[in-house]
Amino acid sequence: MSSDFLALALPHVQGLSPYVPGKPIDELARELALDPANIVKLASNENPLGPSAKVCAAITAELPELTRYPDGSGFALKQKLAERYAVDPAQVTLGNGSNDVLELVARAWLAPGFNAVFSQHAFAVYPIATIAAGAECRQVPAKDYAHDLDAMAAAIDSNTRVVFIANPNNPTGTWFNQAALNAFLSKVPGHVLVVLDEAYIEYAADSDLPDGMAYLSRYPNLLVSRTFSKAYGLAALRVGYAISSVVIADVLNRVRQPFNVNSLALVAACAALDDIEYLERSRLTNSQGMQQLEDGFKRLCLSWIPSRGNFIAVDFKRDAATINQALLAQGIIVRPIAGYGMPTFLRISIGTAEENQRFLDALTLVLQQA
Ligand SMILES: *Cc1c(COP(=O)(O)O)cnc(C)c1O
Repeated sequence: MSSDFLALALPHVQGLSPYVPGKPIDELARELALDPANIVKLASNENPLGPSAKVCAAITAELPELTRYPDGSGFALKQKLAERYAVDPAQVTLGNGSNDVLELVARAWLAPGFNAVFSQHAFAVYPIATIAAGAECRQVPAKDYAHDLDAMAAAIDSNTRVVFIANPNNPTGTWFNQAALNAFLSKVPGHVLVVLDEAYIEYAADSDLPDGMAYLSRYPNLLVSRTFSKAYGLAALRVGYAISSVVIADVLNRVRQPFNVNSLALVAACAALDDIEYLERSRLTNSQGMQQLEDGFKRLCLSWIPSRGNFIAVDFKRDAATINQALLAQGIIVRPIAGYGMPTFLRISIGTAEENQRFLDALTLVLQQA
């Protein structure tokens, strides 16, 4: 007789819902018998520029080493990141995407009896990592879709081990400024690890967003996570990192897989850090595309949440599921965010000018038909 392995799974694991990613282009192409080349995907906050030529060259040069294990210490990349941020390489933790870093934090500090504090409408991986560790989720109501940092600080108790904050936040694009971060960090007790998730910070430069790295020397309980998946355009390779105190990095190093970042990702990330021109082009494409979408929404009399990320959440003021379906039928993939408690919104990743226009044209048609 076969056993019920769902019933045998740990109770908190039974309560988990899997992460729902953006629909892959090939999946929609199969479903609707469309040419994948004609599908526009603006659903996963991916970089629309395609990979940097320097990154591709670095990967090609590394291919003869495929039979070997990667450098498990990630020496070269850690060295480069340490130089970039003027920190000790021992403060750097590399992850299989920054998602990995978030999970390492949960594995090291969360368990039944403890809790993690995060905001409503925040990144879906925070509850998944917390629940998977058997800890309690303290989800704090958002204020105008943004983190309510005062309420989050007030939700911390003696069993809180981790606070996740994202700046800018995904899927809302909302952000907090330096004064707000200062006030928050000064209120958080020293036993609570603050994970400042800066997955989109490269898009928010030249603004009043705080640079998390500047706070590390003052707050030994702070960890800043960043990724190569967004502005650096390496989402497929899965590479991200955290900068923290040496002690926190040492703990994370104990719970990670020995070879959590593969060798192609390591060389690609090193090359990406040097490709200033690509990063500049990413930023420019994004700011122009954001303007293009905002102008389009204005013409369509739609409202949206101002965003500092590479995406924007637009509010249709009614269930957005049917609009999403109609866009899919036009070969346009965007992201429904009902699972984030925002059923009237769709999140649109900023694409190239041409992709943005195709989306706006399809949306115009869909809204006329509705
Ligand atoms: C995309 C994203 C990440 C991490 O993505 P990785 O590809 O795992 O590095 C982390 N946090 C937020 C808020 C994100 O949107």
